Formats: sequence, structure tokens, C-alpha cells
Amino acid sequence: MARVRDIVKIMEKHFPLDLASPWDNCGLMLGSPDKEVQKVLLCLDLDAAGVEEVIAHAPDLVITHHPLFFKEFKKIDYNTPLGRLIRELITHDICVYSAHTNLDAASRGVNQILAEILELDDIKPLFPEKSEKLYKLVVFVPYSHVEEVRRAVNGAGAGYIGNYSDCSFRTPGIGTFKPGEGTNPFIGEKGKVEEVEEYRLETVVPEVLLSGVIDAMLEAHPYEEVAYDVYLLQNQGQVYCMGRQGYWKEETSLMECACHVKEKLGVEKLKIAGPPDKRIRKVAVIGGAGMSLISRLPKDIDLLITGDVKYHEVKEALNWGLAVIDAGHQETEEIVLPWIRDLLTRESQASGLDVEYIYMPGKKCFWNI
Ligand SMILES: [Zn+2]
Repeated sequence: MARVRDIVKIMEKHFPLDLASPWDNCGLMLGSPDKEVQKVLLCLDLDAAGVEEVIAHAPDLVITHHPLFFKEFKKIDYNTPLGRLIRELITHDICVYSAHTNLDAASRGVNQILAEILELDDIKPLFPEKSEKLYKLVVFVPYSHVEEVRRAVNGAGAGYIGNYSDCSFRTPGIGTFKPGEGTNPFIGEKGKVEEVEEYRLETVVPEVLLSGVIDAMLEAHPYEEVAYDVYLLQNQGQVYCMGRQGYWKEETSLMECACHVKEKLGVEKLKIAGPPDKRIRKVAVIGGAGMSLISRLPKDIDLLITGDVKYHEVKEALNWGLAVIDAGHQETEEIVLPWIRDLLTRESQASGLDVEYIYMPGKKCFWNI
């Protein structure tokens, strides 16, 4: 049986809360981590106008990209849209979890998937906003349990090097210990020095996953007192950033780029700014609203694809020599949700959790007529 905490654990393994911007509000917004979950609904945002459609699906948990609550509030007035929404969610016992800027910045989050959907080559973070600290975890394990402990720590997210998972190293040796008063040793007797053949098992762990990996290691380890070491490494960890940069396969015109974006994102109309015949090779993508970042973009970017673009922002971009495609806030973010639904389905099945995930596309806010 799955509980909210199990789904949260999968989400935060892939989209750690530490990646969220300081002004943001991410995580479990409403409900209990203990609640049983059979059905999870994914959508871009929740609002009073669309809550009936959500309730009709009878989910136990809703995962949104935009946080349910942004600002603090002092009362819940059922006559306001937010108050009505909260009342409906509580009445129908629906929990809400939001993953916002942590999902934007994650190594396989909104912007990475958007860049992949647009088929960019050589995709990289736009600029280094945050880089993860890496740790080396070393644990001493008796031969009989080495594979169980390795599976537990790698399963909790340790041992990723580039696109390789399950990386670890083990060396055999002899461990010694003497169980004292009040112990209940897995091997050996109280008051007698024991020698045991053990492996020194080591692997690499990003900081955001360290406590979860240690918990998993302790749970899988047979010893009452586990001998392990954690070292901070100097190796460069992954770089996280809200946006991505990459290249079109071939240099092409702004107009042709716009047609490609329309096709890949399934949008009927979009706005372009810049000379239609401008040659475009290097592209930046920022899902949602990315214009506030234009002064930080690498100067060799020819085109920014984002949403929510305003007049004065476009003027500034053009002064930087940057062309812009406004493909819509909703359109550049929502497209990622089916991918997350599939990820959660796969991970839940692998963990033996029987949960159904459904994606509910949001109603269009704007119509180009
Ligand atoms: Zn957004």
C-alpha cells in the first residue's frame, strides 16, 4: 500500500527541494504524509475554477507545478477563490504536493525535457546557478550482506557518475570489534574480540540525497552499530540552473525555428521578436516566464524560447541582439507533465507500489484569434 510519503520520496529523489529558489514554496502543501494513495493526478496548477474537474477524477493526491500557496495568509474565507479551493480539497480529502523551481532546475526537469522535446543538440545548463556538493560514503559490510547494502544505497540515489548508475567499489579486508555491555551483536560474543571478513564498500552521493542514502544503508545493514565514513569531495558535482542552452542541428532562420517550436510543442500560434530571416544556431530555453534572466544569458545565444513575454522585455532582448519566441507559459511547462507521470509510474512499479497516475491538461488561458 502506498502512502503520500512514498510518492514524495520519489519526487524528491529526482527533484530535490534544495534546488528550489529561496522565494519559492515547494513540497507537501496540504494533507498528511501518512494518507493512503491509490490515484495521483498531475496538473500544472490548481484553482477554484477547475477544482470540479479534479474532484471528478477522485485523486488521493494532486501534484502541481505551480505552488498551491505562494503568499502567507491569515484566514481562509470560503467566499474567496482560494478559500473555496481549500474547502473543496479538504472536503474531498485530497492532498496537494507542489514541485516548482526545484522541478525547473533539476537535471531532468522542466527545462531539460523542454530542450529535449525541441531536439536541441549538446544541451547544457544556461549558467551555473547552483552546483551540488558530492560526498564519498564508505561502509564496512560483512560478505553476506554486501550486495543488499549496495542495492539499498544505489537505490536511494548514490553511485551516479554522468549517465552511469549503480557505481560502487569494494575491497575485502578484516574488521575487528569487541561487543560491550548491553549489546546484541549480529556476529560474535560480548567481551570477546572478533575478526570478521568484511568489504569496504564505497560510492559517491550528492549532498541532497545524503541523509536518505544513509538511512537506506543503515536499514539494509545487519549490524547494530554500523561503521561508516562520509567524506566531502572536491569533485565538481552537477550544475543546476533554471534554463538550458543547446544548438539546432543546422543553422536555420528565426521563422523556421518558430515553425519547428510550434510543431514540437503542439501550439497553434506563437509570437516571435527579431528579424524573421535572422540565422539561428545557439538557443536558450526557459520554460514558463524566463525574460527576467536575459541579462545573464551567455552572449553568444541567438534565440531565447520562453513564455509570458512583455513589450519592454522584448525591446531589451532586441538591444542585446537576442531574438525571442514566446511560445506561452502554459505551453512551455505543461508538456513536461506526461514525462513525469511516466517516471512516477515506472518508479512506483519498481518499488512495488500500486498507484495510478493520471495527467490532466489545464484549460487554455489565452486564445489567439
Ligand atoms: Zn510556470
